[in-house]
Amino acid sequence: MSVCRFCGKTGAFRFRSYNIRVCAECYPEFYEKLVKKTLTKYRMVRKGDKIALAVSGGKDSMAMADVMKTLSTKMDFEVITMHIDLGISDYSRKSVKAVREFDPDAVIVSLNDVAGFGIENMKGKACSACGKVKRYLMNRTAREYGAEKLATGHTADDISVFFIKNWLSGNFQWSDKLLPVTEGFHEKILTRIRPLYERTERENALYVLARGLEFVIDECPLSPIDEWKDILYEVERRKPGFKQNFVRGIVRFSNRKEEEWNVELCPECGEISSGGLCGFCRLKRRVIKR
Ligand code: SF4
Ligand code: ZN
Repeated sequence: MSVCRFCGKTGAFRFRSYNIRVCAECYPEFYEKLVKKTLTKYRMVRKGDKIALAVSGGKDSMAMADVMKTLSTKMDFEVITMHIDLGISDYSRKSVKAVREFDPDAVIVSLNDVAGFGIENMKGKACSACGKVKRYLMNRTAREYGAEKLATGHTADDISVFFIKNWLSGNFQWSDKLLPVTEGFHEKILTRIRPLYERTERENALYVLARGLEFVIDECPLSPIDEWKDILYEVERRKPGFKQNFVRGIVRFSNRKEEEWNVELCPECGEISSGGLCGFCRLKRRVIKR
């Protein structure tokens, strides 16, 4: 019978990977404990840390921000909510609204205000430009607001798909994006933490629903079709716990040595670059010139 493990009420969700059922009322606390375990296991936070929460408005980052807010009082760290308005028509308007609803004090940076263009104006590879813009503006803004760390809503699904696609494309390069924590390698670069590293998108969706949080259901209109998440969903259905085991395997597999970085400062904006203008300023010039 579908009885909640914690309170005994009926009508609970089934979690095959943990072999339990949890009702909507008990679920937020259960989820919170799982995330707390991840923070501790990978030493993501320390007492007194100031952590910027990168929120897109979607279910995953919203779940991350909400649970981190709750844990910040219990684990004694500070959080600030941050959002980049990417200038993608209706999608961005809805995202800003959801973020404001979640936290009226959220820091919202508009790409149009900062750089004079929105991602919607990008032709061709919008996602690669968008990734560059988000990394740059999140890091710079979080630092300006005194944060030492930046938390993102990457999930076990994202990490698994990223790993598999890289592996299969044959140009596999070890990437920091695959690990739960990426230490800042320069005073201008914040340490990145991924509190949902071991959480699946289903777990996050149930959390935002159980907590009654507003979030953007629509996919970004520029999002490319990617079948890998569906494929992994099917694997997970047949092998419960697959994604979590997969990402834990990635951490064990990693014996990466710290790379030597050739760090220079961008002559235009003063952020780090690998030589000459940084990626963001190069992109800005390219778009403005058009
Ligand atoms: Fe940016 Fe949309 Fe691509 Fe996501 S799908 S990286 S929001 S352009
Ligand atoms: Zn620059």
